[in-house]
Amino acid sequence: MERAIYDEDHEAFRDVVKEFLKRYVTNEKREQWDAAGEVDRDTMLAAGEAGIIGLTVPEEFGGAGMLQDYRFRTVVNEEVIRAGAGSLAGAFGIQDDLAVPYLVHMGTDAQKQKWLPRMATGEVLGALAMTEPGAGSDLRGIKTTAKKADGGYVVNGAKTFISSGATADIFVVFVKTGEGNRPDAFSLLLLESGMAGFDHGKKLHKMGFHGHDTAELSFTDVFVPEENLIGGEEGKGFIQLMMNLPLERLSIGVAAAAAAQAGVEWTIAYTKDREAFGQRVIDFQNTRFAIADLVTTVDVLWAYVDRAITLYNEGQLSAEEAAKVKFWTTEREGEVLDTCVQLHGGYGYIMEYPIARAFLDARVHRIYGGTNEIMRDIVSRQIAGKR
Ligand SMILES: Cc1cc2nc3c(=O)[nH]c(=O)nc-3n(C[C@H](O)[C@H](O)[C@H](O)COP(=O)(O)OP(=O)(O)OC[C@H]3O[C@@H](n4cnc5c(N)ncnc54)[C@H](O)[C@@H]3O)c2cc1C
Repeated sequence: MERAIYDEDHEAFRDVVKEFLKRYVTNEKREQWDAAGEVDRDTMLAAGEAGIIGLTVPEEFGGAGMLQDYRFRTVVNEEVIRAGAGSLAGAFGIQDDLAVPYLVHMGTDAQKQKWLPRMATGEVLGALAMTEPGAGSDLRGIKTTAKKADGGYVVNGAKTFISSGATADIFVVFVKTGEGNRPDAFSLLLLESGMAGFDHGKKLHKMGFHGHDTAELSFTDVFVPEENLIGGEEGKGFIQLMMNLPLERLSIGVAAAAAAQAGVEWTIAYTKDREAFGQRVIDFQNTRFAIADLVTTVDVLWAYVDRAITLYNEGQLSAEEAAKVKFWTTEREGEVLDTCVQLHGGYGYIMEYPIARAFLDARVHRIYGGTNEIMRDIVSRQIAGKR
């Protein structure tokens, strides 16, 4: 089904993204990222140069200024994932959907001036650090503290599972600045790589997204100047997270739909090419019927995701709607990619084939950004009238 969400500006931008991918995403590059466990900085700088990261950075700070038009980010996600570069899509997503928005929407003028121009070029990469070894879903259970000191804060604690954790230069870190676990006991502080006492722990060895780093972080008496308090106001961290989480969840929904679509496209091409019992695999009725289900699921995924993008662009995507999108799309993605692997036979299990990578990458979509159980909790609480 043809999608109606894009206009010619988005399609022109798609050409820019495709051109970038043709130049910078090769099999050799993918293997290099997988071996290193991270995307190289030169590729991120090239993405900055091509104008495909930092999309929402306002023009006055050197960005593309596409503030509330998430369709451009969607084009990037679609094309990068279609190019079989899930890890690169992950690295772009952390920069544009998880780090940049905290500065664009909540940063002080000084913070914007200082960081956004270099985030738009890829010289400065950001990350978001909420999760701790003992607290993931239950964010108010975090133990990382930021105690007031002369001119700033002293931070102690640890974070884990932080995407871009080994490569980022600045980290939006969720910390406790107050007692207890009331929402106003938390703040967001910007920690800079290289600050004394801030250590990047080991890169975690993951099931998927092999070419995108996920790391542990530890903080021992890290002095963070007051000017690095996001928004300049203490006690707002929980609300600030809540403001951006719908975008994070929408971005996962987009990635899920894009991966499902790419998987189906690869599967159609593969089953047209592969022969068994003297005919193409796509000529078996079982394959054709499965593909009919797959393409229909992809159509429905996009119809739903496109609607959510429109709501987001209008400033109307609620936490509950974003939670629905996140759990529903990622579960369909899992089903679609599982069938796609099956239709590839043994080759579907071999990492040279993009479907194998996409299958492994997809699994975490049901876990991060808030688990799908937490998403169902958010949706059903509202219905039950429980806050
Ligand atoms: C590859 C990867 C990248 C990540 N990137 C980041 C990042 O960049 N920044 C960051 O801050 N975090 C990141 N995370 C962390 C991720 O968001 C958490 O892993 C996730 O929120 C779950 O937290 P947890 O692992 O502590 O699981 P837990 O909270 O311990 O959950 C364990 C199980 O219990 C279930 N559960 C928990 N509470 C409830 C409940 N109330 N009702 C029903 N079931 C419940 C969960 O759904 C899950 O099935 C990343 C994780 C991974 C794996």
